[in-house]
Parts: sequence; C-alpha cells; structure tokens
Amino acid sequence: MTALTRPGHVLPFRPVPFIDTDNRAFWTGGADGALMLHRCRACGLWIHPAAPVCRRCRSTDVVPEQASGRGRVASYTVNYQPWIPGSEPYIIALVELAEQENLILTSNLVDIEAEDVRLGLPVEVVFEKHSSEEIWYPLFRPVSEAS
Ligand SMILES: [Zn+2]
Repeated sequence: MTALTRPGHVLPFRPVPFIDTDNRAFWTGGADGALMLHRCRACGLWIHPAAPVCRRCRSTDVVPEQASGRGRVASYTVNYQPWIPGSEPYIIALVELAEQENLILTSNLVDIEAEDVRLGLPVEVVFEKHSSEEIWYPLFRPVSEAS
C-alpha cells in the first residue's frame, strides 16, 4: 500500500486560499500552532467557515478564538485520481471538532495509512506551511498515545 506520510509527500502543492478579514486568523494561526475559529461572544457558538454574523443569535460580536485542535473523523474518502500531476493518493476527511457538535472542518489526514482510518478516530491538528505564503494549512493526524 502507498504510505500516506507527511503532508509534503501527499500533494506537490496546495491551492492558496483567498484571505479576507473573516478567514485571516484561520489561515495564519498555524504560525503560532493555533487553530483559530470564529466564535460568537454573545451565545458561544463556534462558526466555521468564518462569518461576520452569528447564525444562531444574529450577533455581530464574532471574533477568532483558539480551538483545541482535537476532534474525530466524521467521514472520509481516499482520493486515488491524480487530479494534480504527481500527487499520490490522499485522504479527505470531515473532522468534527471537540468544541461543538457539527463543527466540521474539511481537511486531509496525514501520518496514517488509508486502511487504518475509521469513523470516530480521534485526531489532532497539525499545520503545514505554504512554501512561500504566510499561510498554514490545518491538517489532522491520529492522536498519539503519548499526547
Ligand atoms: Zn451567537
């Protein structure tokens, strides 16, 4: 089987996201090892993707806050089609974060073989920096026994 190891071995490059005031903390927080997600200060709801208004209470008092980076695999698929020339098979996962039910991040799983992934697998965030931009991609790996 093909080993899905470090992020840099999975994809030859990643698309650069368009950065705006709402998502800047999310895409740059990895520099500090922080998964930054928007949260409503009025009702406490975590909001991802980032938005300037809380969908539950309509408050605009919504600011980035550091999330734990821990979660569980809610769904996943393995991509074998080399859409990007030179790419190896990689795992696309929906990760439900520990903070809140249905707080889902779409990301890649790394440091795990495709056949070892299962629903409910505990995972933690790990960041991969873009080669030139100040952008950090949040990826997820299995929670190590030691941590
Ligand atoms: Zn709210």
